[in-house]
This record gives sequence, C-alpha cells and structure tokens, in this order.
Amino acid sequence: MLSSKLAIVTGGGSGIGQAICKKFAASGARLIVADLKKSAAEATAGNLPGNGHSAFEIDVSDPEHVARLQEFIKSSGESPSVLVNCAGITKDATLLKMSQNQWQDVMNVNLNSVFLMSQMIARESVAAGSPLSIVNVSSIVGKIGNFGQTNYAATKSGVIGFTKSAARELATKNIRVNAVLPGFIRTPMTEAMPPKVLDAMVSMVPQRRLGETEEIANAVLFLASDMSSYVTGTTLEVTGGLGM
Ligand code: NAP
Repeated sequence: MLSSKLAIVTGGGSGIGQAICKKFAASGARLIVADLKKSAAEATAGNLPGNGHSAFEIDVSDPEHVARLQEFIKSSGESPSVLVNCAGITKDATLLKMSQNQWQDVMNVNLNSVFLMSQMIARESVAAGSPLSIVNVSSIVGKIGNFGQTNYAATKSGVIGFTKSAARELATKNIRVNAVLPGFIRTPMTEAMPPKVLDAMVSMVPQRRLGETEEIANAVLFLASDMSSYVTGTTLEVTGGLGM
C-alpha cells in the first residue's frame, strides 16, 4: 500500500509510533524514524523489514531541530510523501494543581510540533510538486476530555482543529490532512498507570478492552495510503466505541 514511498514518523521510537513504522515498512515504505532519543529511533529503524530506513534524533517542539530535519531531507533529494505526527507526552495534574510548565511542555510537544513539522514538510512537497498525506495522532480525549488532563486534552482538540483547517488550505495542492483519535491503547504511556485507574478506564469502553498499537497503525496506514485518496479533514476514532 505504500510501495517505495518515503514516510516520516515522529515518536517512532516507542509505542504507537513504532507500530506505525513496522506497519508502513511491511507495506513497502522507506522510513525516517524521528524521535527524541537517537537510540530509540535507531532501534526501531534497525528492526524494520526492507531497506532504505533511517533514524533521526529530533525534539519536534524545537524549530531549530525541525530546520535540521529539513536540511536532511533537502540533502537526500526526496520529499517525503507521508508525515505522521505521533510524538506526544502527558504531564497530568488537575487544573487546580497544574503548573505553567506542565501546561506549556505539553503544548510544545503535542501541538506546536504538529504546526512546525506539518508546515515544513508541506512546504517541501509544494516546492517539489509532489503529493503528501499528513496523519496527525490526536486522541479521543481531545473530543470528550479526561480528568487530570486539561493540558493534554487541549492539545489534542487543537490537533483536530489544525487538521481540519490545514486540510481545507492544502486540498488543492495534492496534500491531504487527517487525524486518528486513539482511545486507550496498550503502550508504555498506559502501562505506567495504576491498575485501578486502568481498570476504571477499560470499564468505560464498549468493547471492554484496551486497544493494541497495531490497531492504530492499521487506521494510520489507511489514511496515509492512496486507499483514502478522497478522504481529507476527517477524524477517525479507533477506540473500541469509547466516545462515540
Ligand atoms: P510513547 O510510547 O511514550 O511514545 C511517544 C514517543 O514520542 C516516545 O518515543 C517519546 O520519546 C517521543 N517523544 C516525546 N517527546 C518528543 C519530542 N519532543 N520530540 C520527539 N519525540 C518525542 O507514547 P504512545 O502511547 O505510543 O503515544 C503516541 C501518540 O499517541 C501520542 O501523541 C499520544 O498522545 C497518542 N495517544 C496515545 C494513547 C494511548 O493510549 N497510548 C491514546 C491516545 C493518543 P521518549 O520516550 O524519550 O519521551
């Protein structure tokens, strides 16, 4: 489905991002695995099937790092045809206790990065006259909210608004922009939660289980590939029914 296409996945060193890299590589893509830690990006890239994968160390919230990635892309002479913005963090606290740093850090990594990365890659695609599919990993929490996550929920709602606006602006330039909204997925992020909290979360899910990272990767693959050539500005909920 992505035969010989070049795809960038941020947050590709762990969890959902890593599953997306695996799924894309199995579908014929060449990956630029972009992550905060070079070791994590390299571990993912080194275990992918196929050839032509690379690892790139980047803080996606830092404009200088994103500019460095742009130079790397320019020097390779090929504009990517898929960008997945998957890097994300949580810094949970109730509103009454949340610090400005907890608010700002989550804004920077989860939302500012989507602007920086999407603008950079979209500019490259327009300059090259090549098609692009951007898939943003938002969250069902961006739609329904979550206790202790005013910062996180605000970023994930922001990603949805960004996705729809960018989709409108870029539709005539052969660039599609969509978002996937995962529910509660089994990753290091959720495994770090106290079992009692996790059980309470699962009891709210109509399918009564956590999702698997591969189930998110399947949805992202659909939106990244030409299978969804007439789909832009949409939000695809992959939640076991949570938040429908
Ligand atoms: P994860 O396992 O923690 O993976 C996130 C990856 O992003 C990590 O490798 C992390 O590196 C990297 N990262 C963090 N900050 C970064 C930065 N500034 N620049 C570049 N890379 C950075 O998390 P996940 O659960 O797979 O989540 C992936 C995405 O799905 C996130 O956007 C998250 O909000 C979203 N999501 C997850 C769930 C869920 O249930 N897990 C549900 C809905 C949405 P470090 O490990 O070094 O920090």
